[in-house]
Amino acid sequence: MPTETFEFQVEARQLLQLMIHSVYSNKDVFLRELVSNASDALDKLRLEKLRDDTLDADVSDLHIELDIDKDARTLTVRDNGIGMSYDEVGQLIGTIANSGTASFLKELREAKDAAGAEGLIGQFGVGFYSGFMVADEVTLVTRRAGESKGTRWTSRGEATYTLETVDDAPQGTSVTLHLKPADPENQLHDYTSPWKIREIVKRYSDFITWPIRMVPETGEGDFAPEAETLNSMKALWARSREEVSDDEYHELYKHISHDWRDPLETIRLQAEGTFEYQALLFVPAHAPHDLFTRDFKRGVQLYVKRVFIMDDCEALLPPYLRFVKGVVDAADLSLNVSREILQQDRHIRMMQRRLTKKVLSTVKEIMTKDADRYATFWREFGTVLKEGLLTDSENRDAILAVASFATTHSEDEPTTLKQYVERMKDGQEDIYYITGESRQSIENSPHMEAFRDKGIEVLLLTDPVDEVWVDAVGEYEGKKLRSVAKGEIDLDAKGEEKADGEREKQTEEYAGLLGWMREQLDEDIKEVRLSTRLTVSPACVVSDAHDLTPALENMYRAMGQ
Ligand code: ADP
Ligand code: MG
Repeated sequence: MPTETFEFQVEARQLLQLMIHSVYSNKDVFLRELVSNASDALDKLRLEKLRDDTLDADVSDLHIELDIDKDARTLTVRDNGIGMSYDEVGQLIGTIANSGTASFLKELREAKDAAGAEGLIGQFGVGFYSGFMVADEVTLVTRRAGESKGTRWTSRGEATYTLETVDDAPQGTSVTLHLKPADPENQLHDYTSPWKIREIVKRYSDFITWPIRMVPETGEGDFAPEAETLNSMKALWARSREEVSDDEYHELYKHISHDWRDPLETIRLQAEGTFEYQALLFVPAHAPHDLFTRDFKRGVQLYVKRVFIMDDCEALLPPYLRFVKGVVDAADLSLNVSREILQQDRHIRMMQRRLTKKVLSTVKEIMTKDADRYATFWREFGTVLKEGLLTDSENRDAILAVASFATTHSEDEPTTLKQYVERMKDGQEDIYYITGESRQSIENSPHMEAFRDKGIEVLLLTDPVDEVWVDAVGEYEGKKLRSVAKGEIDLDAKGEEKADGEREKQTEEYAGLLGWMREQLDEDIKEVRLSTRLTVSPACVVSDAHDLTPALENMYRAMGQ
């Protein structure tokens, strides 16, 4: 087959431009990205061979190799992993499948200055393309395990790339970076220096479970020096807390999550006894763009005795903690364990319960120790966590304890339910809330008038899920959760009770008007009654205590129910 030329997809082209004219100062991370891809490819091959031992692939010495050629100014990252077929190269390297990247690009276009752009780039992994930060041409040669022919991909990062079939490609993938001309001003970024490469690998990729070897420069004579393994390959989760620096934990997080930012929190758990496991979990500092989409990938990897088994293992944490990333390493599972088996395994279920409690207690701890970090957590993940109020009755109280809500008490400080209860007025028995689309729209609702007048605090709930959990949960520490828009509300309870019969007397007095209104609005309403909840507006619409709220009605209608 002749060499074919293809155009990059539009988004891919934009991303490449960004890399080429990179304003991102930490260019060293390109190597982390390439090593991370190589490591994934080795994991995949090992698993595929395990499933199908007729696969024609050599798994006896899986490793990553770094090869510097000072004269040609190239750096090659090579693995003998799964490789890619001709079509896969075009799909995986020529397009951007990740939906988060598209929104990233949009934000980037809107970023006003270089500093803003740099901040954004730092937040998103751009993977393979990051090679173009340091190279003006990249060549990738790959052969899919089991196939006989390989593929060569080349690009200068501009509009196009080329593909051609090659006959003699070794199994796996090699990525060769033709490095940009050396900058005499900046020796620090000389990627042809073995010293520099050693340092980057140590810093970013030490925990990678496959050996990363540096091929020595071919010297004079026959004595080829031994390749040097640059990483310790020690599983961080198996090492004691004191042995591991925060930076090392953070690099593992970045490898797993493909996030370029540090996590908000690192959680360690070691379980001993009949079912032994170690867990190292991370709470990200930012919610990913696709958290609420159907194909969101969970980020907890399952290992069995240091051997990678699967990505995004959904059996390990409940759906409402799907944003948590990390590794769980279990001692007593089969290497062949399937997702179906995991879902039913009693030990895995116990593990899930324990991990869930651990995550929730960690959030509680953040809340008590560090208000700012808690605020970040809740802003990013509060909405997801509230799903747990519906699905996880066992941990309902633990979730309520770390939940906070916008409130009429303060413009910008949310409140916990505990704080709300502490501020409740004498004689106030219920916790009041109102739901709706935005704080502004519900604060101005006529339902709020009497509450504002009497200085009674109301929670302002604006997430769609709020409608549902308040009903499901019903009360907090014996105090009912009550919508200000539902049922009869008597704010004159206790102490200032109206004179007996006064309400009846008024109702009698207005009987004519009420009856007339009832007739006029017959189609749309159940009842017209005098209200204590209004101070300024003449009338408002209220639902029965057990009716759906308007927002929920809309939601169900939208879902076609
Ligand atoms: P990500 O790793 O986040 O998926 P990348 O841009 O780093 O994004 O890589 C894109 C895809 O290209 C990978 O998901 C993988 O399928 C493929 N790929 C990249 N490098 C390799 C490699 N060394 N071996 C096999 N496949 C690779
Ligand atoms: Mg990658």
